[in-house]
Amino acid sequence: MIEISENFKRISENIKKACLDFNRKDEVRFMAVTKGVPYERINCALELGIDLIGENRAQEFVQKHPFYAKKCEIHFIGGLQNNKVRYIIDKVSVIQSADSVKLLTEINKRAAAHSLTMDILIEINIGCEWSKNGIEADLLPGLLAEAETLKNVRTRGLMAIPPIDAEEKIYANMRRLYEDAKASVKQPDVFDTLSMGMSGDYITAIKHGANIIRIGSALFGSR
Ligand SMILES: *Cc1c(COP(=O)(O)O)cnc(C)c1O
Repeated sequence: MIEISENFKRISENIKKACLDFNRKDEVRFMAVTKGVPYERINCALELGIDLIGENRAQEFVQKHPFYAKKCEIHFIGGLQNNKVRYIIDKVSVIQSADSVKLLTEINKRAAAHSLTMDILIEINIGCEWSKNGIEADLLPGLLAEAETLKNVRTRGLMAIPPIDAEEKIYANMRRLYEDAKASVKQPDVFDTLSMGMSGDYITAIKHGANIIRIGSALFGSR
């Protein structure tokens, strides 16, 4: 587990340095992404002070969740089928992978059944890749408007997975999309999250305004 500790230290220093380099005065949160990682190793990360984790797979998450040794904030970040929403609705505080009216409607329904309001991010397929989840950028205004009609859903921002080796302008586009969306929503004060950047590109993401970066393999080792 020494390896996780060293990775954590190195990444934390890189984040701090990037924040200085790119004049970031706001907070950039470090999310540990847990897919395929045994709970013992997740607990090691929590012990180091990580307070935000990202889950990709509903079933794997529900099985591991009882063994998490510390309270932490948990976001769902993976592709989410409608029929899995009910398993996670009371166990996560943000669903970052909202990408359709159907999914938003299901989240709203399940949240209402638990008397809670679910925070969501809308996932953008910023590289327009066939293989990726998320909506194309031009569908964002429509989905934001739909989300605003749902009482038990609160839109907190955007999430994206830029293509591997994406040009920097993709990140800049994503930031512009986020700023424009923030300026257009009814509650701009709670539209405050841009989740972007993973093990290979978090520095670039920080440069372009990401305030949650999602780190898997650089922290826990390759899958
Ligand atoms: C796996 C995953 C990550 C982390 O990827 P790494 O490259 O291992 O850091 C981040 N976000 C999402 C949505 C993922 O599925």
